[in-house]
Amino acid sequence: MPTAKSIHAAAAQRPAKGVEPVRRVFVKSYGCQMNVYDSQRIADVAEREGYAETTKVEEADLVVLNTCHIRERATEKVYSELGKIRRLKERRAAKGRETTLVVAGCVAQAEGAEIVRRQPAVDVVVGPRSYHRLPQLLGQRRRGGAAIDAEFPLEDKFDRLPASAPAAIRARGVSAFVAVQEGCDKFCSFCVVPYTRGGETSRPAAHVLAEIERLARAGVREITLLGQNVNAYHGRGPDGRSVSLAALIAAAAAIPGVLRLRYMTSHPNDMSDDLIAAHREVGALAPCLHLPVQSGADRVLAAMNRRHDARRYLDLVARARRARPDIALSSDFIVGFPGESEAEFSETLALAREVGFASSYAFKYSARPGTPAAEMAGQIDEETKAERLARLFAALEDQRVAFNRRLVGRRLDVVFDKPGRRAGQIVGRSPYMQSVYVQGDASLIGAMAAVEIVGAGPNSLIGRLVAPASREAGLMARCERRSPI
Ligand code: SF4
Repeated sequence: MPTAKSIHAAAAQRPAKGVEPVRRVFVKSYGCQMNVYDSQRIADVAEREGYAETTKVEEADLVVLNTCHIRERATEKVYSELGKIRRLKERRAAKGRETTLVVAGCVAQAEGAEIVRRQPAVDVVVGPRSYHRLPQLLGQRRRGGAAIDAEFPLEDKFDRLPASAPAAIRARGVSAFVAVQEGCDKFCSFCVVPYTRGGETSRPAAHVLAEIERLARAGVREITLLGQNVNAYHGRGPDGRSVSLAALIAAAAAIPGVLRLRYMTSHPNDMSDDLIAAHREVGALAPCLHLPVQSGADRVLAAMNRRHDARRYLDLVARARRARPDIALSSDFIVGFPGESEAEFSETLALAREVGFASSYAFKYSARPGTPAAEMAGQIDEETKAERLARLFAALEDQRVAFNRRLVGRRLDVVFDKPGRRAGQIVGRSPYMQSVYVQGDASLIGAMAAVEIVGAGPNSLIGRLVAPASREAGLMARCERRSPI
């Protein structure tokens, strides 16, 4: 899954004049898109408790660090951040202002009470499946002692979370994440997710579709369906039977206002025929498939407990391309997995060259305590890992640049989401995820319009509007579809 450290910088929800709230919440999100989604929902929970969201940590009465455990030294980075917030808390206390400090997310799940032992300034520790209980935990904290909830509760948090207020949705823009599935049963030998997020669960289809309808009514036009193993989705349908991700996508595409859908992150073993066919049949489904392969060497894949081999992966790529010839493939790679030989690393390079990815994420293997791979013999030295990563990066970067260049001269549908930095410029997303810069009227923000690509950089495209698409035309085009659910 792509990871990126990000500040959860949704625009602060300023209250109406005259009803200045007394309290503010700041949520900092680390790691994957699922954490970004969770951070927004944590802000929604806090808002219901009377906290208005702020992007300035200094003015926050409630500070939430929504942590990620996936990267190397993640835990130490969280303790370092907590030290800074403790000092901020002391400065605010000197001015008579109280600050409540919450650690949420996967580090909270993994560390539990240890967090408070090492940093007593922490008031609440709450795991990724329990944050709907934040109001009770804050109440418990007020009654004395730190409040810790690092369990996997029996109830489904999604059933208990408040719906985002329309103003909050609008502040977050025209693209939104919607979690449809959480947790993982795959137990890849390098990964902590099955331990920090628990086993796979899927939200009922009706709940997901109701959330998408709310988002679309509030102006969201591009939805990414999220899950640690999103293509293992098997939510309950209205008739009690299981609904596949493909059927969920088709139903979501029929919701008025939804212009584009994406999904991530997928496991090769869960790429079903109907999901591949959806790329041919559902026009609103973006021609993108993020399908992590991790390694091109079968022995390494077996040691990773990936349960697929390189041949099966390449076969899936071929089938996806037959269904949608312009599909953009992306992947995750781990280099320097324990025991990886130079020859095995070469097989990874060869697989990358054979597929030709539009973009990818590559990481050095880093041992996560408690995972089987951390105990394996043959741990690779840092120098070798760094050297292999540099070679893989170079190959993937060449592919990305080549993919973007091939788009020059093509006409793409772009969903515009914000003004550009230059006068008269607006920015949107291509179907393939690149930012596209055009000269255009700001009234197109929130609409989809046809753009001819005239230039390509490594990360973005430059285009010009070829048809001044109206917002209504874009919306109506999608409203004629029927939901299969
Ligand atoms: S499929 Fe593997 S890498 Fe992905 S979340 Fe599950 S255990 Fe982790």
